[in-house]
Order: sequence, then C-alpha cells, then structure tokens
Amino acid sequence: MINLVLFGKPGAGKGTQAAFLKEKYNLLHISTGDLFRFNIQHGTDLGKLAQSFIDQGDLVPDSVTINMLEAEVDKHPEAKGFIFDGFPRTTDQAKALDEFLGKKQMPITATIALEADDDRLVERLLQRGQTSGRTDDQDEEKIRNRFQEYNLKTAPLRSYYEAQNKFHSIDGIGTIEEITDRLTAVIDHFL
Ligand code: ADP
Repeated sequence: MINLVLFGKPGAGKGTQAAFLKEKYNLLHISTGDLFRFNIQHGTDLGKLAQSFIDQGDLVPDSVTINMLEAEVDKHPEAKGFIFDGFPRTTDQAKALDEFLGKKQMPITATIALEADDDRLVERLLQRGQTSGRTDDQDEEKIRNRFQEYNLKTAPLRSYYEAQNKFHSIDGIGTIEEITDRLTAVIDHFL
C-alpha cells in the first residue's frame, strides 16, 4: 500500500499532479478542498459551516476537517492506497492522521512538497479564478492570506515529517509532465 501526502501552497499544482498519480499508482485521491466545495454546492451543514472560512482564505477548523477526512477514508475500504491533497494542513491534523492511519496499519509512505514562489502562484491562481469560478481565487488579498495560513500553520509540517524521514520536496516550476516525472522519481523509490 502507498499513502502519499502532497504539500504545496495554493496553486502549486497538487490537484493537477494528483490526477496523474492516482492513475499511475492506482490510488484514491482525497482533496479536502474538493470535499468542502462539494458540500458547499450541495448546501449541506458542513458546507455552510466551511464556506465562511474558505471565503476569507482561512483554514476550516481542525475538528471539522479531521472528521470529514476520516469519514472519507472509511468510505473506501477497498482502496489500494491514498493521495491526500490539502490534508494535513496543521500539526494537529498531521497527528490525527498518523493516529488514524496507524490504527488501520496503513502508515504514510511519503510526503512531497511542490515548491513555487508566491508571485508565480498568485499569477496562476488569478488565472484559474477566471475560469473556475472559485471566489477564493479571484482576490489577491485572499490569496495572500492563504499563503500566510500556509506559512504559519502548514510549513511547520516539514520538520514534523522530516523527523519521521518522510519529507521530500521537488521544484514545482516546469511543465506538468516534468513535474510528474519529478514526483514519480521520488515515489518509485518506495515501490
Ligand atoms: P488551495 O490549495 O488552492 O488553497 P484547496 O482546494 O486545497 O485549495 O482548499 C481550499 C480551501 O479549503 C482552503 O483555503 C481552506 O479554507 C479549506 N481547506 C482545505 N483543506 C483544508 C484543511 N486540511 N484544513 C483546513 N481547511 C482546509
């Protein structure tokens, strides 16, 4: 079983790459952002709760996010492994994930961060916002707030996973294929 965590600031390309990796390695892709957006679209209680945080570019509270993620994993007992995209984003989420996966004896294989500079990311996100309709991608101030949330709450996970020898990072600037190749070079090491 392979369980991967993809890190990277908003716009770093996690979702794009996850779509390739899930096919190549036969993994189930779980994006917490996609799950929240699905719930918002369907007007669920979870969606209503998450919306105000997402609209501001803030993280949704840990308890809500952790419960949602665990429920999603539990829906797929047949999975050969998972790609976690956008989770964990805080140390408490990382600890919860370790504990949850530990109980199932399906530990994280590797975490990989896609690195890219902020100005390039803002450019990508504003462009995405024009077609995706995502309001959190249409306002530079909200985008910069998401970067700040990342620096403050998610960046510390680097040392968390380094302590477990599970942290890798790759250059996220290049063509989609080049970045897929860089990712598979890391992942193939664990097959
Ligand atoms: P991006 O990586 O471009 O910010 P996502 O789709 O991963 O996009 O996430 C969109 C928003 O959903 C985040 O800004 C945040 O508000 C919320 N969100 C997603 N994942 C988490 C998480 N693990 N913890 C808290 N909030 C989250």
